[in-house]
Amino acid sequence: MAALASGSGLKNESSPDTRSANCPPDVEQLGSATWTFLHATAAYYPERPTPFQRANMLNLLHSLPVLYPCSHCATHLGEEVKRHPPDVSSRAGLSWWLCERHNEVNERLGKEKFDCTKTDERWRDGPLDGRCD
Ligand SMILES: Cc1cc2nc3c(=O)[nH]c(=O)nc-3n(C[C@H](O)[C@H](O)[C@H](O)COP(=O)(O)OP(=O)(O)OC[C@H]3O[C@@H](n4cnc5c(N)ncnc54)[C@H](O)[C@@H]3O)c2cc1C
Repeated sequence: MAALASGSGLKNESSPDTRSANCPPDVEQLGSATWTFLHATAAYYPERPTPFQRANMLNLLHSLPVLYPCSHCATHLGEEVKRHPPDVSSRAGLSWWLCERHNEVNERLGKEKFDCTKTDERWRDGPLDGRCD
C-alpha cells in the first residue's frame, strides 16, 4: 500500500496485518471509497441535468482539490481540473471525464488504465453474465 506524505491530513499506514476494519482510512482506502462515490454519482447523474444540478456537480468537483485529506492527491487533482475542466453537461460526459481523471492517477501510480467505454458496466449496470444481479 502507498504511504502517505507527512502533513497530508491522513495518518501514515501501518502493516495491513495490524490494521483492523475500524482503523482510520489510509490513502488507498480513502481513494477507493472516494472513487466509488464519484463514479457511482456520475453513473446516476441525469442525461440532461438542470442548471442547478450542473452547478452542484461543479461545486462538488471543485471542492475536492481544496478539501480532500490527502494533500499530494488534492494538488495533482487541482492541476488536472485546471487542465481539463469538468464536463457536467450529461451523464455520459461526466462519466467519461471522471474515468479519464482516474486513469491519470492510475498511470501515475503505474496501474493499468481502465477502459472508459466500460464505466456503465462497472458502476451502474453490472456485467452481462448477471453475476452482480
Ligand atoms: C481524486 C483522487 C486522487 C488520488 N490521487 C492519488 C495520488 O496522487 N497518489 C496516490 O498514491 N493515490 C491517489 N489516490 C488513490 C488511488 O487512486 C487509489 O484509490 C488507491 O491507490 C487504491 O487503488 P485500488 O487499486 O484499490 O483501486 P482504485 O484506483 O481506488 O479504483 C477502484 C475501482 O475503480 C475501477 N476503476 C479503476 N480505474 C477506473 C477508471 N479510470 N474509471 C472508472 N473506474 C475505474 C476499478 O474497478 C477499481 O477496482 C487518489 C484518489 C482519488 C479519489
